[in-house]
Amino acid sequence: MRFGRIATVVSAIALATTVASCGSSEKTVDVQAGSGDKTGALVGVTMPTKSSERWIHDGDNVKKSLEALGYKVDLQYAENDIPTQVNQIENQITKGAKLLIVASIDGTAITTQLQQAADNKIPVIAYDRLIRNSPNVDYYTTFDNFKVGVQQATSLLVGLKVQNADGSEGEAKGPLNVELFAGSPDDNNATFFFNGAMSVLKPYIDKGVLTVKSDQTEFKQVAILRWDPATAQKRMEDILTKTYTGSQKVDGVLSPYDGLSIGILSALKSNGYGTSDQPYPVVTGQDAELASVKSIVAGEQYSTIFKDTRKLAEVTVKMADTVLKGGKPEVNNTKDYENGAKVVPSYLLEPVIVDKDNYREVVVDSGYYSADQLG
Ligand code: BGC
Repeated sequence: MRFGRIATVVSAIALATTVASCGSSEKTVDVQAGSGDKTGALVGVTMPTKSSERWIHDGDNVKKSLEALGYKVDLQYAENDIPTQVNQIENQITKGAKLLIVASIDGTAITTQLQQAADNKIPVIAYDRLIRNSPNVDYYTTFDNFKVGVQQATSLLVGLKVQNADGSEGEAKGPLNVELFAGSPDDNNATFFFNGAMSVLKPYIDKGVLTVKSDQTEFKQVAILRWDPATAQKRMEDILTKTYTGSQKVDGVLSPYDGLSIGILSALKSNGYGTSDQPYPVVTGQDAELASVKSIVAGEQYSTIFKDTRKLAEVTVKMADTVLKGGKPEVNNTKDYENGAKVVPSYLLEPVIVDKDNYREVVVDSGYYSADQLG
């Protein structure tokens, strides 16, 4: 544990300071905390992009809650450009940030900056996305990412009527045609989502209930770099024109993110889907973005996964505050998030499946969106 190492080094320095200054106890305590008074300290927050609504909510919520506790906040977005995010983190360290909250673009690309942070005794919280290949990630706050994938696949099965909502066997026996999409290969979450989904779908693919006509079932074949909707649209178009010739139709699409689902639905629309004769296939999603919840209400996208960014911000800010005050924050998972250098102590929140039947209860009654926004 980095904190353990720091504590040992700091204790040694503190001891030396005590001896040298013959009883300047105030100073000793100050050094021992490794920190000093953090009231009103600057916190650096870096988010990947504003092109997806969820990160805007995340950034706003984290900033607002930190400011309410008296911290100053430097909030930056990098429009999915890795060098920009690298610079932003470096600048925050230079500006004297006392803690960093990072939602990374490429989870493997900021090892050097995290080392700089460690050298300056700046704790780092990985926000939503795990930062990989660095021992200098102190904590991780996120949702149960494997479960997100399980939920996406489960709602795909329910939409296809292969399974009933209560988990019992549904009326559809297949074979049904499905296509698979995954997120960005440099985002640790993408593999968790995909593995979670495949843990549910693979037995049905193996039994022939589900068929992947494109034959693309490996993560690397179906991953969409930077979660780019246009890339997903293009891949769906290619699959439709190359594989679904004649009367063959797609029945379901595993999509890991609402932005990709929008691209996928556009490709389907331009290939004749979305009419009363040829309805859209069952398309999943993630993030309950406004446009996608509207699409669910309109009967286009089938489902999404709601991850309450208000709660993620709340948990992260509480954690940051505890760490800045020299305390040990609460975590609820210390085994699943190995980042290539260590297992990062994590706090996981619960994701929720949203479809046409429960969207009011989940996203409207909870105040995430107003009824007007959806109307
Ligand atoms: C997040 C998802 C999001 C995706 C694309 C992932 O890391 O966990 O909520 O849909 O990035 O932004």
